[in-house]
Amino acid sequence: MVPKKNEFVTIEITDMGSGGEGIGRADGFTLFVKGAVVGDVIEAKVLKAKKTYGYAKVEKILRPSEHRVEPMCPVAGRCGGCQLQAMSYGAQLSFKERKVRECLERIGGVKFGECGEKLSEEQPQFLPILGMEDCFAYRNKAQFPVGKVKDGKVVTGFYAGHSHAIIPSTACAIQAPVNEVICKTVCEHMEQYRIAPYDEETHTGLVRHILTRVGAVTGEVLVCLIVNGKSIPKAEVLADKLKAAVESYDNGKNQIQLVLKGVCLNVNCEKTNVILGNEIIPVWGDTYITDYIGEVSFCISPLSFYQVNPKQTKVLYGKALEFAELTGNEIVWDLYCGIGTISLFLAKNAKNVYGVEIVPQAIEDAKQNAIRNGITNAEFFVGAAEDVLPAKYRESGGSMRADVIVVDPPRKGCDETLLQTIVNMEPKRVVYVSCDPATLARDIKFLEENGYKLTKAQAVDMFPMTTHVESVALLVRER
Ligand code: SAH
Repeated sequence: MVPKKNEFVTIEITDMGSGGEGIGRADGFTLFVKGAVVGDVIEAKVLKAKKTYGYAKVEKILRPSEHRVEPMCPVAGRCGGCQLQAMSYGAQLSFKERKVRECLERIGGVKFGECGEKLSEEQPQFLPILGMEDCFAYRNKAQFPVGKVKDGKVVTGFYAGHSHAIIPSTACAIQAPVNEVICKTVCEHMEQYRIAPYDEETHTGLVRHILTRVGAVTGEVLVCLIVNGKSIPKAEVLADKLKAAVESYDNGKNQIQLVLKGVCLNVNCEKTNVILGNEIIPVWGDTYITDYIGEVSFCISPLSFYQVNPKQTKVLYGKALEFAELTGNEIVWDLYCGIGTISLFLAKNAKNVYGVEIVPQAIEDAKQNAIRNGITNAEFFVGAAEDVLPAKYRESGGSMRADVIVVDPPRKGCDETLLQTIVNMEPKRVVYVSCDPATLARDIKFLEENGYKLTKAQAVDMFPMTTHVESVALLVRER
């Protein structure tokens, strides 16, 4: 079968690609089908065809997959946010577990037994993925673009996949439900006082985005309007309305009481796709919220990096802590430490923790967070991990050692100079937290070729409904 563009083909979806697209194969030809779910038999319309593969869209579902479910969100197919809403949560978890495992085996050259099984001392263990009990409304941070529809009504929504067209939507299934009333309140205020939404094409108008942060443990809420200017009309009136809207919001049974901690502006007058500018102007109350991961409290401003799924963050850090096997006497390095979340989470169980992070503001936050929590055995350094650690190692004349090194790099993984320095420092354990299984696998290969052995790996679902998956792996130094 070599189908042509615009042709219709009947195909069974037997696999899922890493972007969540369905994959069907026939006679050596592979078709990638957006919106198809593994197990579907579909009629697909071919959009693009090469010699051995092509892209298609679902024209008609002839036999729906047993994993297919009705998406929770009416705009799930069009919004660029959730790629997997049409798939049952159980099937999403299997897909992610398989994705991580296959990367580690194919790229990392690792050989696992059955999931959860350990056949011998040498064989690494692949542990079952840790999913969420309640897989919706998990995000603590939202950024809604603000725009105008034809009749002049102000709307918020989400960008369609690969575009900046706003799909109007007031509710998002993976965000905190209170955002709906926040967006509604802001839009009504804008209409009442004729405040124009920002227009990307003409670089005119005022309000660009509405950003919210909701503390999962504290119930604290922050609303920040990103504006092409320095003020908005009747800001205090808006703050009063938001306070009433948030605090009277029925957050569901057994949920914590929400409290509005502050309303602020973020100034962004640039002609850019970047959402946030650098300056924060308070309108009412604080310019931050506080929240907890385990027993450690964090101060979170609109500009700070903070994990978006607090429940699963605790699960992920709990795994990192378990894999680190700390007894209280260890020297620990936490590389790519952000605002010090992992460092502070581990500090209580270690002798000393050293964090390294490239963003200076994040390091400032990390230091403040240590003080807030009375943690005195954590120290933080600004700079690229691949510069800071090798430099400190050289300065020590090659004598610097660590017991445990934790890394949590961005998608591109660790630089080889950093991995080499880690090897030179001879830590007993390396705990690798990763948001990209392919680079995790590549780096595991390097460490395995240099005296370390992968003993276990586990995926954690931090982003239900999307194709993203987080993993944590333990590498132990071979004697
Ligand atoms: N461990 C933190 C942050 C993980 S995200 C947490 O769980 O919250 C990855 C972090 O790496 C980001 O904060 C990013 O700013 C930082 N980063 C990116 N490149 C870096 C580099 N070369 N050296 C050090 N930090 C880097």
